[in-house]
Amino acid sequence: MGKAILTGAFNHETNTFSKNPTEIAEFEAYYAIFGEQILTKFRNVNHEQAGFIDCADQFGWELVPSVVATANPGGTVTKEAFERYGGAILKQASSRRWDGIALSLHGAMVAEGIFDAEGHLLEELRAIVGSEVPIAITLDLHANVTEKMCRHANIIVSYKTYPHVDMRDASVHAGQALEFAMETKLRIKTIIRQPPQIEGLDGGRTDVEPMTILIPRLKEMEAEYGIFAVSLNAGFALADVPFVGPSVTVSYDEKTEQRAIKIANELEEAIWQSRDRVNNEYLTPEQAAQLAKYFNGQSKPLVIADYSDNPGAGSYGDATNLLKALLEAGVTEACFGAVCDLEAAQILCQGKVGEKITLALGGKNDSDLGGGPLRLTGEILGIYDGNYLSEGPMYAGLTKSFGPTAVFRVEGVDILVTTHNLQILDRMQFASFGIHPEKLKVVALKSMQHFRAAYEPLAAKVIVCDSGALARPRRSTLPFQNVRRPIYPLDVIAR
Ligand SMILES: [Zn+2]
Repeated sequence: MGKAILTGAFNHETNTFSKNPTEIAEFEAYYAIFGEQILTKFRNVNHEQAGFIDCADQFGWELVPSVVATANPGGTVTKEAFERYGGAILKQASSRRWDGIALSLHGAMVAEGIFDAEGHLLEELRAIVGSEVPIAITLDLHANVTEKMCRHANIIVSYKTYPHVDMRDASVHAGQALEFAMETKLRIKTIIRQPPQIEGLDGGRTDVEPMTILIPRLKEMEAEYGIFAVSLNAGFALADVPFVGPSVTVSYDEKTEQRAIKIANELEEAIWQSRDRVNNEYLTPEQAAQLAKYFNGQSKPLVIADYSDNPGAGSYGDATNLLKALLEAGVTEACFGAVCDLEAAQILCQGKVGEKITLALGGKNDSDLGGGPLRLTGEILGIYDGNYLSEGPMYAGLTKSFGPTAVFRVEGVDILVTTHNLQILDRMQFASFGIHPEKLKVVALKSMQHFRAAYEPLAAKVIVCDSGALARPRRSTLPFQNVRRPIYPLDVIAR
C-alpha cells in the first residue's frame, strides 16, 4: 500500500477593506468540491491538485482528497464558510493515520475573528496529526505569510509567476519535497523574513525587474544541498492585518540552518530595496479614453486594464469611471468587462436579444470608489448562462461561470454584464459571449496583471488605468489600523 496522503485546497485572498463578506455562496459560485471527484476534475490541468495527483502517480501515493474550496477575492470569510471548508480538511485529517499532508492554500485569507486563517487552520491540523507527520503546502505569490504558518507547515512553496501560470509546478515541487521528507524521515523546517513594509517587489510582477532577476536566483538557491524551497511572496496589501506585506520563506533541512538564514536575510534585503519600485504608469480614465479614441493598432487592439477595479484583488468589479470616459470620448469598436451587477444582469437576461433598454449600470457598491451608476440606453446583444471554458496559460481546460450574463451594446462599446465577480484573464471570458477581443480596436478590462498572460500576445499596446476603485495603487492611503508598526510607508524607517 502506498503512503497515505491527505490533500485539499482552501483558497481565499481576503480584502479586509471590502464591505461584502465572503460567504458559502461565493465559494459555491467558484469551487466547493468534496471528495473523490476532485481527482477527476483537476487531473492534468493547471491547478495545485493536478500537481499533487502527478506526485501520487509518480510515487504511488494513496492520495485522499478532502475539499477544494475557492472563492473570488472579496471581504472577510464568514465563520460558517471557514468552518465548513476548513472543517472538511480537519475532519478528514482525524479520520485515520497519515504519512503526509499536501495542501494548497492562498496565504492571505482572513476569517471572521481570525486574521491568520491559514495559520489557524494549520495549527489545528498539526494538533490532530501530531508533530511527526510532514505537512507541505503551496501558497499564492500574494500570501501574507505568518510565523504560525511556518511553524506548522514543514514545507512551503509559493508560485514563482505573476500572472500565475505555475500552480501545478508549485505543487509538484512541494510534493517532491514531501516525498523526500517521508522517505528519509528528515525534519524539514521553514523560516520566514518579513521586512517592515506594506508593499514591495512591484506587486510580484514576474515580467519586469526586480523579479526577473530574483526568480532565477531563487532557483539556484533551491538547487543547493539541504535547501528545498525558497519563495518570495509579494504580499497582499489590501489586508489590514498585523503581518501584511512581502516576505521570503526558506524550507530547509535542519543541518543547513545557517545557510537558510543567510538566504532569507539576503532576500529580505532585496525586498526592502524594492519598496518603492513600480513599473506601471497609471493613467486616469480620461487619459486612457483619449488614447483609445485616436488609437490605430493596425488591426490589433489597444488593451486598457483598469487596475483599481480588479475583482482579483477583491474590488467590487462594478466601477464605471473608465466606461464613462470611453463613452464620453466616443470610442467605438470597443468592449468593456466585466461589470458585476446582479440587478442589471437580471434585467438584461429577462429581456430579448435585439431589444433596446435603458437601465442603471454599475457603481452600486460604493459610488466613491471608481464611479457611481451610469444611466445607459443600449441594445441586448446576447443572453448567456455565463459558463466558459478557459483556453489561456493560467486556467486552460477549466470551466468557470459568471452566472447569468448579458452583452449590452451602448453606442460603440459592448459591455459584458455579469452576476458573479471575476477578473478578466482569459480570452474566452469575452469570446464565449460573442465578443472577439482580437477583432476590436479597444479592449477595456478589469485586471491588474493576470490579463497579460492572455491579452499581451493579441494586443498592439497595453496601458494601465486607475479609475479610483477599491484596489487602487498607492495603498498607504487606505485606513490601516491593525498593521504592525513601524511600517513603511506609514512610518519613517531607518535600516
Ligand atoms: Zn496572486
